[in-house]
Amino acid sequence: MFQSKIKVEISNLQCNKHFGNPYLQIKIDKGCNGIERLMCSECIADQRGVYNVMSIVEASERIQNLKSQQQQQIVDFIKSQKQMLEKLREKTNSLQSKIYELFSSLNQKFDDYSVELDNLVAEYNFCDLLKEINFLFESPNQIIYQQFLIDSERIQAMNRIYSSKVNNLTLTLKSIIADWNVQNEFDEKFNEISTQINDNRINKNHSILTKIQEVKQQQSCWAIAFNKSNSIMAAGCEENIKIWNFQDNKLIDSGIVLKGHSDYVQCLVFSKYHDWFVSGGLDEKIICWNQINIKKWQGNQFLNTGQGIIQCLILTPAEDQIISSHDSKIKVWNLNIECNMISFKQSLDMHKSTVQSICINENQTFLISSASDNKLILWSKKSSQEWSYQCTINKITNDCGNRVSFISNSTFVLQLEKQGILHIFNFENGEFIEKPELKVILKSEKEQDRTLLFPSIFNKKKNIFVQKHHKYVYILKKDNKNQLSINGDPISCESKFNYGTITNDGNNLIIWNLESRSFNVYQIN
Ligand SMILES: [Zn+2]
Repeated sequence: MFQSKIKVEISNLQCNKHFGNPYLQIKIDKGCNGIERLMCSECIADQRGVYNVMSIVEASERIQNLKSQQQQQIVDFIKSQKQMLEKLREKTNSLQSKIYELFSSLNQKFDDYSVELDNLVAEYNFCDLLKEINFLFESPNQIIYQQFLIDSERIQAMNRIYSSKVNNLTLTLKSIIADWNVQNEFDEKFNEISTQINDNRINKNHSILTKIQEVKQQQSCWAIAFNKSNSIMAAGCEENIKIWNFQDNKLIDSGIVLKGHSDYVQCLVFSKYHDWFVSGGLDEKIICWNQINIKKWQGNQFLNTGQGIIQCLILTPAEDQIISSHDSKIKVWNLNIECNMISFKQSLDMHKSTVQSICINENQTFLISSASDNKLILWSKKSSQEWSYQCTINKITNDCGNRVSFISNSTFVLQLEKQGILHIFNFENGEFIEKPELKVILKSEKEQDRTLLFPSIFNKKKNIFVQKHHKYVYILKKDNKNQLSINGDPISCESKFNYGTITNDGNNLIIWNLESRSFNVYQIN
């Protein structure tokens, strides 16, 4: 057990109002601060009214015990990290000495080689007269040339021997270094610790979500959105769109059914400024809808895109463009909501297979797309209306992005198809860089989602991030360093086929679930 010590003994301090008096008691009520809480005998006598006190001795003991417990808590928590560091250090030391030995023998080989070469030269220091006189009849040039051939042959042989010795040592060196992957070991431990931290945090604050209502909805719902004032919810119910009123945290069926699509509605986006929304579906159609009166919505633009089924559809923050994905292509449409105008602007064709997710930042400077070709592409604004290919963003893991979403103008979150991990990318020095220290490991880390349902949502008002993965829906809180932390237990839906959204004020979460075939309405606390 650790024992924390108070830096300055309060018993050594003297009252600043009554000179020379030692402090005896501490006021423990709220409303005063630091030194104002300390009282000497005269202060106590002057005091009026009811107040709570504690003796200096008791307070010191309490504080020290509490600090000691906090210290013990952190010591216990970092124990396994310290062990890991110790193990890594042992391994590093052993590798270091092995490598040192190998380098020493390498140097030894160079020395040996050099000595052998010197020996060759030294052979000419003395000569055997009786042997040499036998060659005197030959021309001197001939003798010198013959000897050169013999010597160079010996040098060649030496070269081969030493080259093979050096090569063996180098291979051993390389294989020792390759075998020992410190980064992998470190990453593994790092992930383990992050999971542990997230679990601990979850255990300590349970009730982030309160379930308020469950509403049956038989037809499959693969798109849900709220209007600007959160009073209306539109949901794709197979090929139709149903309108619900949302009052006092509850859904009320308005009885309005909008027809226009001939296949499943996949995407719905409401305007943040007008009583207007846009829908996209498996029938390749984009339809714009506006509210005529409280009982009536009207489809006013029917666009048969003919470009393939619509998987993603977003509205730019300025609401001057619609961006849709059709298989491997991304289409940009110019939009004027007030004039009911929608027109094709450009096609962004760089992906080789299905685009899984697209997102745009609030400043409209970056557009990011992820596709099943494993590519993450950054597009940027060339002019006020035109997008162009900027680059392919490097990511550490070789897996395609299931969902991408901005959490600030220069930071986005990528969730991969085969893992429940959130990877964070930050724009630094002209490019998006993955920040491994910010990544978040979800409880469903080992599960594969692969549904393309329920895009990730960042709500700026509340700084919360909603992430669906497999059958879980997580609420994460973002801090000012772009660190996301899981808040409370995730909602466990009965199946991974679920779709949801949150209200614009960040107060409610609505999820439709294929197993229960119902909407669940939650309040986010
Ligand atoms: Zn006093």
